[in-house]
Amino acid sequence: MERRGFLGRLALLAGATAISGFAVGSVEDDHRSADVGRWRSSVGAQMSTDTLPIRWFAPASVGRQVALTFDDGPTELFTPGLLDALDRHGIRATFFMIGALVERHPDVVRRVVAAGHEIGNHTYDHVSAAVQTAEQVRDGVLRGSDSIERVTGTRPRWLRPPRGEITTATLVAARDAALEVALWSANRGNAADDDSAAVGRHLASSLRPGSVVGLHDGIGRSSWVGHPDRQLITRRRAELDALPNALESWLAAGYRFQTLGALIPSP
Ligand SMILES: [Zn+2]
Repeated sequence: MERRGFLGRLALLAGATAISGFAVGSVEDDHRSADVGRWRSSVGAQMSTDTLPIRWFAPASVGRQVALTFDDGPTELFTPGLLDALDRHGIRATFFMIGALVERHPDVVRRVVAAGHEIGNHTYDHVSAAVQTAEQVRDGVLRGSDSIERVTGTRPRWLRPPRGEITTATLVAARDAALEVALWSANRGNAADDDSAAVGRHLASSLRPGSVVGLHDGIGRSSWVGHPDRQLITRRRAELDALPNALESWLAAGYRFQTLGALIPSP
């Protein structure tokens, strides 16, 4: 179960950074409220009672509605073809974009917006918070929102931390930037990098009411640091090759697709 895997990872990170106040509860919960005020004391002097929702599921009460999310774009390589695939079914999704790529490909960003999709913040440069100072985390989060606003005119509602790795600084930066943290409950699973058939089988069987599906239309920092990561390109291509069949089977099973913002009411 990917959700159990995520919970385990979050608990591990919390333990590693000596964070208290975050009780990992039932896997049936659709989110947890992190006590940011309590954590803030480890990175700043001010105490508060603010809390921050972390979403990886919409409430099951939404019925057979789910959210598709795509990280690490926009790219010329993957995003336009993905938009065509979604358009064929009139599906609206949420794109967690890297700020540095938003600035490189503003035309692709505008096409995503024009097609009715939602854009979320995947930080400016896609560095894991696990290897950054609190100031670097804050800077990456704010610059990510800034670049999206410059191109689209709108500040994003959601933050998806790179690799889903969350530290105290992530939560404080998100709260201060009025961002909600969004993770995912389903993804490509453990299929081999190039095995799109296995990815497709896994995806087809992974949905339940309220699922948030995490896929990709980019290759992270290797887009602009060093050489494009060939293995990651293969891995991403397998995901997107699997998508059309997965969409058909999900639609046949009665699932409908919304942006995260449409699926999860603001707190
Ligand atoms: Zn990413």
